[in-house]
Amino acid sequence: MLATSERVRGDGGRTEVLVWHKPVGRCDGECDFHAIACSADEGIVLPSPKQNVPISLDKPGERWCPDCLAIIRGGRATEK
Ligand SMILES: [Zn+2]
Ligand SMILES: [Zn+2]
Repeated sequence: MLATSERVRGDGGRTEVLVWHKPVGRCDGECDFHAIACSADEGIVLPSPKQNVPISLDKPGERWCPDCLAIIRGGRATEK
């Protein structure tokens, strides 16, 4: 599953967690913004390249956005 990553500070700002979102819309590989499936008006600014991330992600310090994961699992259309 192609995903775009967001760096989130957790644990009082001491650790950085990589949160993966399902991207929506076009990507030309040089965009400075990615829309994401879980939000109509928020997205990833200055995203790193999309990567193929397994649905059953179990890497430490990385997790799926729960809302995006629900959309992926539900197979719903990403447009609101
Ligand atoms: Zn998300
Ligand atoms: Zn892109």
